Amino acid sequence: MAQSRHGCPYAKKCGGCQLQNLTYAQQLQHKQVQCIRLLGRFCRVEEIIGMQNPYHYRNKVQAAFASDARKNIISGVYQAASHKVIAVEHCMTEDEKADEIIATVRKLLKSFKLLPFDPDTKRGFLRHVLIKRGFRSGQIMVVLVTGTREFPKKRSFVNALLKAHPEITTVLQNVNPRRTSMVLGKEEFVLFGSGKIEEQLGDMTFRISARAFYQINPVQTEILYRKALEFANLHGDETVIDAYCGTGTIGIFAAPHAKQVIGVELNGDAVKDAKENAKINHINNIRFFEADAGGFMLAAANAGEHTDVVLMDPPRAGSDRKFLSSLVSLAPKKVVYISCNPETQQRDLLYLCKNGYAVKKIQPVDMFPHTSHVETVVLLTKK
Ligand code: SAH
Repeated sequence: MAQSRHGCPYAKKCGGCQLQNLTYAQQLQHKQVQCIRLLGRFCRVEEIIGMQNPYHYRNKVQAAFASDARKNIISGVYQAASHKVIAVEHCMTEDEKADEIIATVRKLLKSFKLLPFDPDTKRGFLRHVLIKRGFRSGQIMVVLVTGTREFPKKRSFVNALLKAHPEITTVLQNVNPRRTSMVLGKEEFVLFGSGKIEEQLGDMTFRISARAFYQINPVQTEILYRKALEFANLHGDETVIDAYCGTGTIGIFAAPHAKQVIGVELNGDAVKDAKENAKINHINNIRFFEADAGGFMLAAANAGEHTDVVLMDPPRAGSDRKFLSSLVSLAPKKVVYISCNPETQQRDLLYLCKNGYAVKKIQPVDMFPHTSHVETVVLLTKK
C-alpha cells in the first residue's frame, strides 16, 4: 500500500490513526468496501462523503502530562495499552490552536515550577489538559485536570495563560485524584468565564460543557445531520422520537420540521444540556426524558403511543433486543438509524428486516479521517 506524504511520525506508538499510511482517497475506498461488505446485502451503499480538508478536524483535544527520563515536561498521548506518555507536538487530526495552547501550558508549568502529577507517588500537579473549541463561534474552553485540589499560584497561572492566548473564553479546573484512565474527575471549578462554550450547527446554537458528549468533527456532523433529516423527509405533522439523543442535537435540528419531538437519553447531565439547548434555540415542541431507550420504547409501545419517525443514534454496541422489538411494535413508518459501528448496525438491521422493515438508503459519512472508524446513516421504511 502506498505511503501517504502526510504519514504521521507518532503513528507506531500512538496507534490512534490506524489508516494514516494510506492516502485519503485510499482511506475512503477502504471504508466504502467495508460498508459494502457489511451492509451491501440490504441495499446499494451510496458513495462515502469524505472531507475536503481531512486534517485538524477535531474540536476536542486532550493531552496527558508527564516528566520524561531527563525531567523535561512532556505532553501527548498514552502509548497504546500502557501508561507511558509519548510526547506529541503536532497531531494531524487535532485543532492546531488547541495544540498551541497545550504547548503554552507546558512552558508555563516550567516557569511556575509546577510539575505533572504522578499517579503512583501522588506528587506533582497537572494530569491532563482538555480543550474544546467552537469552530464557528470561535469560543475556546481550557480544562486543567489536576491530581490535587490545591492549585499553587492559581490566579497568576490563569492570567499568564489568558495573556498568551486572549482567544480563550473559559478556563476550568477539574480535579481527578484517582488511579484511572478516565481523563475527567467529578469535581470542577470555573476559573474564568462561564464554564461552557457555545457552538453553531446549522441554524442552531449549542452550549457545550466540559463533561457532556458533543460530536468531535463539526464539519461532518452538519453533513451527517442534514442527511438524517433528508432521509426522514419531515412535513411538519409528524411525531418523532430521537433515541440516544445525547445533548439533543439531532432532535433540535429536526424539531422545526415536525409536529413534536421526544428525546430519550440515559445520561442525566446530557438531558439537562439538551433541555437548555432547546430553550436557547426557542424550540418549544421538544421534550426530553432521562431513561434507557429500550425501556422507554417498551413503555411507549405498551401504552399504544403513535410515532411516525424514529431517529436513533446508539453507542458502538448498537441497540438491544428490548429496543428493537419495541420499535417493531411501535411501528413508525420510517426509521433513520445513525451508527458509528457498521458491525452492530448490520446485526440490528438484520433483525428489523426480518420484522417488517426494508432498508431504502445507506449513506456512509467520514467523521474520523485517518482512523478506521466509519459512520453511516440508514433509512428504513415499514413494508
Ligand atoms: N445523538 C447524539 C449522541 C449520540 S452518542 C449526538 O449526535 O450528539 C450515543 C448516546 O447514547 C450517548 O449520549 C449515551 O449516553 C446514550 N446512551 C447509551 N446507552 C443508552 C441507553 N441504553 N438508553 C439511552 N441512551 C443511551
